[in-house]
Amino acid sequence: MHNDTKCVQSGYSPKNGEPRVTPIVQSTTYKYDDAQSMGRLFDLVDDGFFYTRLGNPTCSVAENKIADLEGGVGALLTSSGQSASEIAIFNICGAGDHIISTSTIYGGTLNLLGVTMKKLGIEVTFVDPSISFDDLCKEFKPNTKLVFGETLSNPSLRVLDVEMFAKAAHDHDLPLFIDNTFPTPINLRPIEFGADIVLHSTSKYMDGHAVSLGGVIVDSGNFNWANGKFPEFTTPDDSYHGVVYTKQFGKAAFISKARVQMMRDLGPMAAPQNAFLLTLGLETLHLRMERHNSNALACAKYLEQHDKVAWVNYPGLKSSPDYKLAEKYLPGGCSGVISFGVKGGKEAAMTFMNNLKMAAIVCHVADLRTSVLHPASTTHRQLTEDQLKSCGVLPEQIRFSVGIENIDDIISDIEQAFEALK
Ligand SMILES: *Cc1c(COP(=O)(O)O)cnc(C)c1O
Repeated sequence: MHNDTKCVQSGYSPKNGEPRVTPIVQSTTYKYDDAQSMGRLFDLVDDGFFYTRLGNPTCSVAENKIADLEGGVGALLTSSGQSASEIAIFNICGAGDHIISTSTIYGGTLNLLGVTMKKLGIEVTFVDPSISFDDLCKEFKPNTKLVFGETLSNPSLRVLDVEMFAKAAHDHDLPLFIDNTFPTPINLRPIEFGADIVLHSTSKYMDGHAVSLGGVIVDSGNFNWANGKFPEFTTPDDSYHGVVYTKQFGKAAFISKARVQMMRDLGPMAAPQNAFLLTLGLETLHLRMERHNSNALACAKYLEQHDKVAWVNYPGLKSSPDYKLAEKYLPGGCSGVISFGVKGGKEAAMTFMNNLKMAAIVCHVADLRTSVLHPASTTHRQLTEDQLKSCGVLPEQIRFSVGIENIDDIISDIEQAFEALK
């Protein structure tokens, strides 16, 4: 099936007389007729639900749909994008291990890796996404466990050379973890370019309506966890009376361990109600992404020729340094987020933003409603102009998340906000 069809059809096929739409199974627990069948579930011999922290039928539907969209063997929903990264990384990293990550990742992930994981004894080397293959290979250490990057970074909109990063990781017998939140599997399927584990904040385009936080981990099933570097998959897990993950779960070893060990111990599960809302969002993801792609490109082109605009960053523009990478990895479109600079600096940018009538000022992106944020006066407002420049946030910078409204109305709103700047 094509991804368009998978958005609508995958993950749930009701049997005779069952509800056509995925029901919300609002139950923490599941009833069994005898102790033996419950015991077999606990031993991971039989498949089935027994406690919602480890699995829920409504969550399963969204998990199966997303795994299918990404081309993976299985998925695990989490309560947020942050907990998806946390569960996925802890699944193979502990104190004394090392991670290589691109520096242009979401601020929350940057803190998770650079501050919180560091406190727990995991060391991280940050590299520029445009690093050469040879320089990247120099960063590997004997204790390196994974390579991490974002396909289309939030908020800097850099396009990652996924194939190159995958080759470097695989040459060192290590997996590539990819956060694919901004492209979604509609614009890019990283597994096809060598990614082993794919992560999402489903709070963005997948949910799409800004109604529920969530995250997901997708396992490609392609990485060989029995290559000698990951004994936790090939030796008995004492906390599961001796389960050996590669033996018991085969290709789905990573995602099964993430669920039965990491989710069991850390616990950031998705709520069934949120999984239901996510499934509704996923059913129209392909239609929404098409409109986000075309609206954002039209907006970026309009802004680029505007005399009140200092610069525009959107990888779909020929002027973007990442245009060639975007042609290869994002041929269908570069999603809906643009950043641009307003001539006149911080004051002009804030006035422009205050003049917008339809685009709403919110601390969120990748939503079906056009929204806007001025990082220098909000998320980064404590910094001086010099500090802003050194962390890549320019005083005149606007982050514009283009929605799925009619493009003429979006552009008129921008135009009237510029006119009021005079
Ligand atoms: C928002 C975001 C996250 C974090 O997700 P939450 O659902 O807010 O926890 C991680 N990665 C990227 C690229 C994001 O945009």
